[in-house]
Amino acid sequence: MENCYDALVIGAGPAGATAALILARAGWSVAIVERAPFPRRKVCGEFISATNLGLLRQLGVADDFLARAGPPVRNVGLYAGETSLAAEMPRTRDGIDPFGRALGREHFDALILGAARKAGAEVWQPWTVKQLDRVADGGYQATATSADKQTAASLQTRIVIAAHGSWEGGLLPTHVHAAPARGSDLFAFKAHFAQSELPADLMPLLLFPGGYGGMVHADGGRVTLSCCIRRDVLARCRRERPQQSAADAVIAHIRANCRGVDRALDSALRDGSWLSAGPIRPGIRVARDDGIFVVGNAAGEAHPIVAEGISMAIQSSSLLCSRLMAHRPGALTQHLLDSLAVSYADSWRKNFARRVHAAAVFANLATRPLAAQLSIAVLARAPSMLTWGAYLAGKSQPPAFIHADLA
Ligand SMILES: Cc1cc2nc3c(=O)[nH]c(=O)nc-3n(C[C@H](O)[C@H](O)[C@H](O)COP(=O)(O)OP(=O)(O)OC[C@H]3O[C@@H](n4cnc5c(N)ncnc54)[C@H](O)[C@@H]3O)c2cc1C
Repeated sequence: MENCYDALVIGAGPAGATAALILARAGWSVAIVERAPFPRRKVCGEFISATNLGLLRQLGVADDFLARAGPPVRNVGLYAGETSLAAEMPRTRDGIDPFGRALGREHFDALILGAARKAGAEVWQPWTVKQLDRVADGGYQATATSADKQTAASLQTRIVIAAHGSWEGGLLPTHVHAAPARGSDLFAFKAHFAQSELPADLMPLLLFPGGYGGMVHADGGRVTLSCCIRRDVLARCRRERPQQSAADAVIAHIRANCRGVDRALDSALRDGSWLSAGPIRPGIRVARDDGIFVVGNAAGEAHPIVAEGISMAIQSSSLLCSRLMAHRPGALTQHLLDSLAVSYADSWRKNFARRVHAAAVFANLATRPLAAQLSIAVLARAPSMLTWGAYLAGKSQPPAFIHADLA
């Protein structure tokens, strides 16, 4: 039958492309549908923790990643008001590739998707999955439309893996529903800068009234600056700077409140446009009872203050796919799929819930004025607590679940 697959992956960010790559390499017939043409930039700090290098190596993309990415990030820092601090980034426990690096999402996402295509995944791009309907004998029928909306197609699949992220709405059952607007909602911004004075081996956390962010050297000498800012504070910034765009008002607010950022951008030039997204939807939503598997941000999201979303995206796909590929696609009865869904969700929580909760605590401290002031004062006295925070965020412990059979 035409357009009939063992697995359909929705979205080709790090989570979706990793899932497609692993399953295609295991001999499954896989379709991966991606709405955006690649290469495409994306709101993200672009830092990839060293804990992922073992997995990237098994996926066959580590050499290309290391060849393209920015310098090793040996220090974690803090820029807040007049305070500029640095402390050691914790090394990974296995010590093979001890430090993480940053790579532009236009390169990283295309790298993994390219490997998935090479492994045999059929790439539908730029196409959008609009609807999922359960079919009588198990599995799903997906309706997808091409970017120009002139063409629609039906895709039949035994298994759906939703990897569409969490910041875009839609009618799929796995889309994260919009909540009523609140002043504490966080909107995200990101830009690249050339000729920044930021030290090459430093990734500072930026704390400013109503938000947090990060800076890091990525590929090609560019520095990535990304941040999250509360809805109410964003509105105030815009009122105070009515002639400026939202992004320009935000960066002016950050520069006025973080001497370290102001210095690092003093002679820098923006490279490309600002990107924005939001409100972001941190939380855990991995458990489902409709037979659809969720990975990456669709399964759960830590506040970006810990810069672990890409790690959770590719590692969650590895967690899920190592379970799926232990079986022949034809042998996956509904009963077996249900039990795999339970075991995947348990394992997801075991591996990532601590990161999600730690990130929520850090984000709360960062976005409340008194708590932020107190945190900055404590860190100024004991900068080594930054190392401890990075450790809590999962920066030193490679996942225990990488299986030799992914190679
Ligand atoms: C300000 C900020 C800074 C961050 N910094 C970092 C960092 O430094 N390090 C880090 O590890 N993480 C960081 N993150 C988190 C990270 O960006 C996300 O966790 C990560 O992108 C999640 O990957 P994903 O594959 O789940 O989803 P995404 O990257 O969102 O990919 C989803 C893909 O699905 C496609 N899609 C959506 N709907 C459909 C559809 N219906 N049909 C077809 N395609 C569809 C989209 O076009 C997209 O390409 C940051 C996040 C923010 C907001």
